[in-house]
Amino acid sequence: MAERIPASLEEKFRKRLSFYQDIGIELYYRDRAPTRPQQAAPQVRTISIEEPTLPQPVQKSQLAKPTVAPPAVVPPRSSGVSVFGSMNKIAGDSLPKILSDIGDCTRCKLHRGRTKLVFGDGNPKADLVFVGEGPGRDEDMQGLPFVGRAGKLLTQMIEAMGLQRKDVYICNVVKCRPPENRTPEKDEVEICSPFLLRQLDTIAPKVIVCLGSVAAQTVLQTNRGISHFRGEWQDFRGRKLMATYHPAYLLRNPSAKGEVWKDLQKVMAVLGLQVKKGASAGPAPSTGKSS
Ligand code: SF4
Repeated sequence: MAERIPASLEEKFRKRLSFYQDIGIELYYRDRAPTRPQQAAPQVRTISIEEPTLPQPVQKSQLAKPTVAPPAVVPPRSSGVSVFGSMNKIAGDSLPKILSDIGDCTRCKLHRGRTKLVFGDGNPKADLVFVGEGPGRDEDMQGLPFVGRAGKLLTQMIEAMGLQRKDVYICNVVKCRPPENRTPEKDEVEICSPFLLRQLDTIAPKVIVCLGSVAAQTVLQTNRGISHFRGEWQDFRGRKLMATYHPAYLLRNPSAKGEVWKDLQKVMAVLGLQVKKGASAGPAPSTGKSS
């Protein structure tokens, strides 16, 4: 007769399964790894879950049709958990539902230093979505993405494209500010990025622009440096994706603005936007790091 698992372990399972549901994973397969040697005194057996190890997420399509995934333009990550890559679009998903699922999130350690969670902002039906790395100080205070110095430059870039901020959608890979504006760590990205994927699937833009290497590497699931594929069209779940430099990088390296403007002009061509005479990716700012 099956023994009941300890309450503490059951709670862990419950939380983990709840997390998978939040990010849209509802199917699991049984681990087919070689059976481990029997322990002298087995301590736990599940009663509601078949396998005593954490379930592995899997796509419905992988079960029904085990074909090789379409080749990515950028090689995939060589290591690491890829919950991101195993998610299907959730029928009936919406930005309010995703926000509700995130809730008062404590799933990763970034929640400890958070003032406000920065979900995203803009047109929920935008043709163009910008994805950044994570909130900085100003964003953390206001709960809005890209409102600091880098945000002002991004606004100038958007306006140079003939759009307003309200026309596009702007969000980040992680929704809470990393301490001292450090780069989000791998575990933080892996835990939070499924919410980004749901945002992208829900908005379904024509074009995604990834700002900086963290955004580009996360969305494309690659370890390659952004300089290897910046300015070249990539495929992301059937959508066009352009990776370019982060506005904060441009604040430190104004000479790179020309390259970014070329990237944005490619985006404009796809979106049918006209390039205004004399337009550029914003005036050259002075110096310093922006949040
Ligand atoms: S960064 Fe994402 S996963 Fe981490 S606490 Fe914030 S919302 Fe939750």
